Amino acid sequence: MGAETDGGKKPGRGGIDRRTLLIGGAAAVTGSALLAKDELGRLWWRVPGVDKGRKEGEVDARGVQWTAASDDNWRRADRPDDYAIDRVVIHVVQGGYDTALRVFKDPSHGAAAHYVIRKDGHIAQMIRELDVAFHAGNRSWNERSIGIEHEGFVDQKSSFTDAMYAASARLTAGICRRYDFPVDREHIVGHVEVPGTDHTDPGPHWDWDRYIRLVREARDRPEPARTKKA
Ligand SMILES: [Zn+2]
Repeated sequence: MGAETDGGKKPGRGGIDRRTLLIGGAAAVTGSALLAKDELGRLWWRVPGVDKGRKEGEVDARGVQWTAASDDNWRRADRPDDYAIDRVVIHVVQGGYDTALRVFKDPSHGAAAHYVIRKDGHIAQMIRELDVAFHAGNRSWNERSIGIEHEGFVDQKSSFTDAMYAASARLTAGICRRYDFPVDREHIVGHVEVPGTDHTDPGPHWDWDRYIRLVREARDRPEPARTKKA
């Protein structure tokens, strides 16, 4: 779980902050030569009258249910145009599905993941993939990754059900397909592997060999045909 802030709203090195200062200082000079076109593009939501046409409740994956995280636990972005997505970070909640939803909706929590998966395979999407979720405890890793939480506990092997592995693998396969990066342990990592983290999830009982195999199978499976209604 991402139970820490990543400093997403504090000015830091690189990334968007420099540009925020820049555009703040030159606020009115829209279209000025000070700002490269792609930087304006990155800050489209600050430019009056520009809207990407997001729809409330829209989701990024098949069969997932939208339930919004607090706005304070993620940062608006325009991925993959501003930041390339090339990592999936696997988390374990250290609690139940309902707990994860509750804390991710809590503005004081300071962290949230894009997805939360229940034992029965049900998936909640709480943050759009184009936005940066504060889940990895590392700014640049948040910017490049999608975070998936799994209900349960790192020290309980029984937390990780067949239905959960299957649902999670389908979701991750779709992410790898959408952003065109390989299904391997370099690109699909545990929170524990994120540089600088002190978190241990998903822990020793998470079966990586099985998970990567399931993701590959899901990736290689043809998209299900649309069922025709009689
Ligand atoms: Zn975590």
